[in-house]
Amino acid sequence: MQIKSAEFITSASSLADCPAWEYPEFAFIGRSNVGKSSMINLLARRESLAKVSATPGKTRLLNFFLMNKSWSLVDLPGYGFAKAAKNEKFDFNERAGDYLENRPNLRRVFTLIDSRHPPQRIDLDFLTWLGGTGVPFSLVFTKTDKQSPAKTRASIALFMETLAPQVSALPAALTSSTKTGDGRKDILRAISREDA
Ligand code: GDP
Repeated sequence: MQIKSAEFITSASSLADCPAWEYPEFAFIGRSNVGKSSMINLLARRESLAKVSATPGKTRLLNFFLMNKSWSLVDLPGYGFAKAAKNEKFDFNERAGDYLENRPNLRRVFTLIDSRHPPQRIDLDFLTWLGGTGVPFSLVFTKTDKQSPAKTRASIALFMETLAPQVSALPAALTSSTKTGDGRKDILRAISREDA
């Protein structure tokens, strides 16, 4: 798929506030600093498209972009650990949760995982929850340029092995690098299979 146009449309503060359209939506989520903004810019080939969602006041909102005037990329707030929680529990933006559970035109969620780290509890907890919603999802292992392909493969294998007991079916695993462009085509291909 060629990206011919990419425009920021709106930020929503609740499910009710999301655009009243029927475009198929593809959502991107991950822990902060995983490389989500860089990836959105890479997909769109726009240097600063995702900058809008990183502006103060928008990082906790759902940010909608319209691509090729035919599908929507949704930049969801990242997740983190609840600061006050006794047992480290993932702190998840409620509006993102509501959107993921209840948005009829959501086609697929891409969850970004840093390919350099061993499996992180926070990602596993989120994916276990996401698996329970029944929404189709894929994983994207980011920043592959920072290590050898063999290390990335090992990291993905370990992650999948750790995730397996917690989900009913293992998701597809893609990779990405904003430095080399790795993954861009695969992600766009996955979207184009489902954007009708
Ligand atoms: P976000 O918080 O998930 O939106 O993450 P950003 O896109 O802002 O990226 C966080 C940091 O990681 C920035 O310093 C990026 O330049 C860097 N980064 C993101 N993706 C890549 C990548 O694929 N390769 C490398 N080497 N650095 C990356």
